[in-house]
Amino acid sequence: MELPVDPARLKAWDHQYLWHPFTDMQQYLAEEPLVIWRGEGIRLQDVDGRWYYDGVSSIWLNVHGHRVPELDRAIERQLARLAHSTLLGQSNVPAVMLAERLIAVAPAGLQRVFYSDSGATAVEIAVKMAIQYWYNQGMAKSKILGFTRNYHGDTVGAMAVAPDPLFHRPFLSLLPENPRVPYPYCYRCPLGETYPGCGLKCLDSVESALDQYQDELAAVIIEPVEGAGGMIPLPPGYLKRLREMTRAHDVLLIVDEVATGFGRTGSWFYCAAAGVTPDILCLAKGITGGYLPLAATLATEAVFRVFLGPPEAKKTLFHGHSYTGNALASAVALANLELMGPLMETLAEKIAAIGQGLEPLTDDPWVGDIRQAGFMVGIELVQDRQQKTPFAWERQIGWAVARRARAAGLLVRPLGSIVVFMPPLASTVEEIQEMLAILRR
Ligand code: PLP
Repeated sequence: MELPVDPARLKAWDHQYLWHPFTDMQQYLAEEPLVIWRGEGIRLQDVDGRWYYDGVSSIWLNVHGHRVPELDRAIERQLARLAHSTLLGQSNVPAVMLAERLIAVAPAGLQRVFYSDSGATAVEIAVKMAIQYWYNQGMAKSKILGFTRNYHGDTVGAMAVAPDPLFHRPFLSLLPENPRVPYPYCYRCPLGETYPGCGLKCLDSVESALDQYQDELAAVIIEPVEGAGGMIPLPPGYLKRLREMTRAHDVLLIVDEVATGFGRTGSWFYCAAAGVTPDILCLAKGITGGYLPLAATLATEAVFRVFLGPPEAKKTLFHGHSYTGNALASAVALANLELMGPLMETLAEKIAAIGQGLEPLTDDPWVGDIRQAGFMVGIELVQDRQQKTPFAWERQIGWAVARRARAAGLLVRPLGSIVVFMPPLASTVEEIQEMLAILRR
């Protein structure tokens, strides 16, 4: 295998032509770019021939590693028949078959699949579904209750339910006011409580918001593990209580499992393991094993039925994208789901190995908190463990760790002072141990 263009020219073109997502371009242009050209298993190789462990699953989505023969073949087979044909008012075979499989593995009660192509669009659709669900019934319930620091993506609807002071400030003119409540952050509990003795007192603020806004609220949206906000898992029992509260207040529940879905936290879906079926579930990232862009918004039949009616009733969900239900992406997603079954059997041992590999860090003077939800890990670095004094964002302390890790052959991408470790689920115990040895150093 040969590079199509020499490494020096590729790097020069990267600096000259590309504008990278979520990237401080001034800083980026001051450094030599990392340009990846191939992958094998859970490792990636750059154009200079250096190999790296993919310690964040290529932004939280890779499941089985790179160049998986079954996934490669699924794309090749589908390519021999059809790459794409629209889902607007007609169908295609892999999209239908995938919908059937998704409903088979999803939390019981979810019955309908609406496709799109990224986590943000899965959320965008969920929000529109929830608002139109009430609109179609003649009710003006159009606000969405969200949680502080939750991240749902960067399209307008997704920003509107989780406006981030850093990411979204310039666009506030596009974003309607939506109420928000604090996300439970046990390490820095604002109520000064400790789990489980707290009895989940933090849910009181949710109850108050539901009481206050009930007549205007279409839905509550939540991430079961706050991802981009800091890798913070919900305390056990929280989501179930939230489900009961939303039901009691006649408000829909949207669970955003874009990051947690497809085995990330050790079970197919966090909400199913928590005994919860939301009204609407958002899926993306791991859905294709990390191969192609695809997302799905799942809804219950009760939600779906509200969109049925004669044309003059105008109950249709007028939302779609040109590539909705792409045949290649659906085919690889189907193959991914087939591989997921046996993979799930191996996860408990690997999750335990991650826990063991993190254990020595609990004594590190810079480590304030280690949070693990299956294959999702956040290591919060602090200046002072006793006082839990955070590092200023400008210090870019997480980046300092990421640079050193990269030099040692491990790719990680931090969130401020939180070092994120999220390897592919197919990583072996030995690979997990090697990656964590680098991270500890
Ligand atoms: N929702 C959650 C929970 C996420 O973690 C992300 C991305 O990290 C998104 C939505 C947005 O997904 P995408 O980047 O595919 O638009």
